[in-house]
Amino acid sequence: MISSFETDKLPQGYYKNVGTVLQRRDSSGEGQSLLLFLRDMGPIWVSAPASKTKCRFGGAIEPLVWAEFDLYQSPARLYLQGAEVKEDFISLRCSAEKLKSALKLYKRLSKTLMVRHESNNILTLLWSSMLLIKENCPVDIIEYRFTWKLLKESGLAPSLQYCVNCGSKLDSGARWTNDGLICASCSGTNKNDLDAEELRSLRFAALLNHDKFIEWSGSQERSSLYTDELNKLVTFFTDMD
Ligand SMILES: [Zn+2]
Repeated sequence: MISSFETDKLPQGYYKNVGTVLQRRDSSGEGQSLLLFLRDMGPIWVSAPASKTKCRFGGAIEPLVWAEFDLYQSPARLYLQGAEVKEDFISLRCSAEKLKSALKLYKRLSKTLMVRHESNNILTLLWSSMLLIKENCPVDIIEYRFTWKLLKESGLAPSLQYCVNCGSKLDSGARWTNDGLICASCSGTNKNDLDAEELRSLRFAALLNHDKFIEWSGSQERSSLYTDELNKLVTFFTDMD
């Protein structure tokens, strides 16, 4: 869980990093506290002091915006000094569905990541997921993909290819257990939660590269498969507490 207590400070000086605003908290009169998620730094709380000149940082301190942030670590705290917007993802704000989906990804990260823990792979995952939303890929499949990959980064993702019990290939179908997916011979029944076709779709959703995913997901028919499976996936996060 991300806490607002920073244990050790950065060495005093100036920093410049690309990233995004995960969370924003208004602290009355003093400006705002921002949880930035930055390349090479991971998530980090910074102070964005209030200023007489309103909108000192423009739109750069809105959640979902990506920018290059100029920071200064004083002996007391880490300040935001300036920001140059790289991508505002403004088009997402015109669609309630896309906006909701993007905010879900941000919320998931706020719950999952550790402050001051470099997480460049996850920052890249967030960036590519935002681009997929912008590209009009189906949001349920993007959320599934993002969540599986996020679990994968933590070593917690259930395998979509091998039985968690015996290690054999999950070809014909699979059944859910608390530990992951198991094959028909381990479950001792022919009743599967996922058939071969569904397993194949889940693998594509999770494992295709960015461009192939855009192509493939555009041809997918609406189904509850991805939201159902997402609900299974999120239970694997509880082990991290
Ligand atoms: Zn098995």
